[in-house]
Amino acid sequence: MRVFKFGGASVKDADAVRNVASIVRLFEGEKLGVVVSAMGKTTNAMERIVDALWKREEAEFKNLVEERRQFHEAILDDLFESKEAQIFHEISSEFDKLSAMYESNVPDNYDFEYDQIVSLGEVISTRIVDAYLNEQGVRSRWADARQLIRTDHSYREAEVNWDKTETLFGQRFMPHFETFDVQITQGFIGHTAEGLTTTLGREGSDYTAGILAFCCNAKDVTIWKDVPGMLNADPKWFDNTIKLDSISFKEAIELSYYGASVIHPKTVKPLQNKQIPLFVKSFIEPEAEGTVIQSSTSNDHLIPSFIFKMNQVLFSITPKDFSFLVEKNLSDIFDRLSKANAKINLMQNSALNFSILLDEEKVNVDEMIKLFEDAYHIKFNTGLELVTIRHYDQPTIDRVTVEKEVLLEQKTRETARLIVKQK
Ligand code: ASP
Ligand code: MG
Repeated sequence: MRVFKFGGASVKDADAVRNVASIVRLFEGEKLGVVVSAMGKTTNAMERIVDALWKREEAEFKNLVEERRQFHEAILDDLFESKEAQIFHEISSEFDKLSAMYESNVPDNYDFEYDQIVSLGEVISTRIVDAYLNEQGVRSRWADARQLIRTDHSYREAEVNWDKTETLFGQRFMPHFETFDVQITQGFIGHTAEGLTTTLGREGSDYTAGILAFCCNAKDVTIWKDVPGMLNADPKWFDNTIKLDSISFKEAIELSYYGASVIHPKTVKPLQNKQIPLFVKSFIEPEAEGTVIQSSTSNDHLIPSFIFKMNQVLFSITPKDFSFLVEKNLSDIFDRLSKANAKINLMQNSALNFSILLDEEKVNVDEMIKLFEDAYHIKFNTGLELVTIRHYDQPTIDRVTVEKEVLLEQKTRETARLIVKQK
């Protein structure tokens, strides 16, 4: 059995869904577990719907629901000749239920409500893809991730209960391959022991593919994307990117730790644990090679990779009483940082100074200053970039520092990290 994952861009309209079906048909004769995300930008739209419900903005809520209904109906109209097809009723009933939530749900737990609503994007997209495959003669079954992936109650960031999930896939998923060739399931959603819907965090559909593959001992996983594979840099920031043909699980985890956004960071671990190879391939050119992520590290050093994080703010924190930065006040600093919910991208210390780099959009500078000012002097510098280079050499460093001032540099044997500012 093999696992495929199609993200939002690969099901963004009717042509895209037809393309998914044509890729599935390329693998006739195999058993496929297929994870599908919400269509196009539906998850963002669903987030706005949750907001409108939360703020009790009825007109806004109804408009947004109507807009999503029409978006999906247009795709259905394009895909299915017969307007009598069952799928039209199914999707319409999902939207009726969503619409009725305005009256029935006066929410008191934002994260809980978020998961109940946002998950519908995936429920709807998978119903459509499954119905279309069946119409095309594929023996496909719709599998409900809310019966399969068991999580705790951390809504919006749920933790998987692996033992239970493995059992559920064994009981409720695998046996259906005796009757069906393909099973379509939702990315990014799960359920609690009471059957309440949870989500695994934004962009979590890759992770679902990893969970599914782990629990079903899949032969391999393929993530189908609109890029030819994993590139050595984000084309948004870099010309002449190079495709990585083969990298190790370890390298993939390092790259996503530093912020490469090609695969969800949690995806690799379950695959590494069972040595299940992960392919990243283009849904535009499905026959092309793509990238394979597997155990061997022998190719990792061949091509340097660049990871850019823009809009960074560097805080420099100095104890007012001139005490050295030793364990005691470091732990005080971390204590205060965790109060600010700060996610640190890089840190460094000297005798009297502790520097941390954070995403500008995730931190409130005034709040940070308030948290520290009783005992520390705190300075900050905004508008910075963090560049990480894996498998660097001097020319690669020169390349990213042209017309840039380097504020801080950290190097290990394999990784160079530079905080830079436009000159
Ligand atoms: N639809 C969800 C999101 O956009 C999950 C995913 O696509 O991976 O975050
Ligand atoms: Mg997505």
